[in-house]
Amino acid sequence: MPDANPPLPLICASGVALWDARALFPDTAPRRRSRDAITGVAIHHDGTFLPPLETTNWHAELARLRAIYNHALAQGWLRFPYHAVGFQSGRAYLTLDILHSGSHVAGHNHHLAGIAAAGDYTQQQIPPSIYLALGTALAFLWGALERPLTDVRQHKVWDPAANTACPDSIAPGVVTAAADHLFPDTAPGPASPPAPARAGSQ
Ligand SMILES: [Zn+2]
Repeated sequence: MPDANPPLPLICASGVALWDARALFPDTAPRRRSRDAITGVAIHHDGTFLPPLETTNWHAELARLRAIYNHALAQGWLRFPYHAVGFQSGRAYLTLDILHSGSHVAGHNHHLAGIAAAGDYTQQQIPPSIYLALGTALAFLWGALERPLTDVRQHKVWDPAANTACPDSIAPGVVTAAADHLFPDTAPGPASPPAPARAGSQ
């Protein structure tokens, strides 16, 4: 049965929204960590084990989140694997406390945040709304950590040994740019330029 109400919206701006669904997906064995332990972000897609995304209403989105969660529990992963999931609707959902390690990149879960795109992004054209949703989630994590996390890489780059296509066609730099665009105050400032040479001055 679908949920009667959507999760609590945290942020709603410029047609994109971030919803807090963490209470719906309990971490059955929390692996707590400090903010300082988190040094990077892995971008994923969920397309490796779910059918293509065909609808964008939030009932369907929650059903897909439940499918991800149930799949993870069936694998013995004990928790929602990712910290947030973004959809083509532009909505993003928080799914796991950032101070709990997820279950998304072998050998790297202790120091990464995981953000997943709903759908299969092995080859297909990426809808811009996916980038907005992922950027919204990333900007939230920056705010939660009180610092920007700019070491953003695809799952396949963090763990080449996994030999995964996750996700071939999502560019991490565009996710970071989307976060920067949505919430520029949390973004890293420009590097200080080197002091100009003062040729001719005494
Ligand atoms: Zn992945």
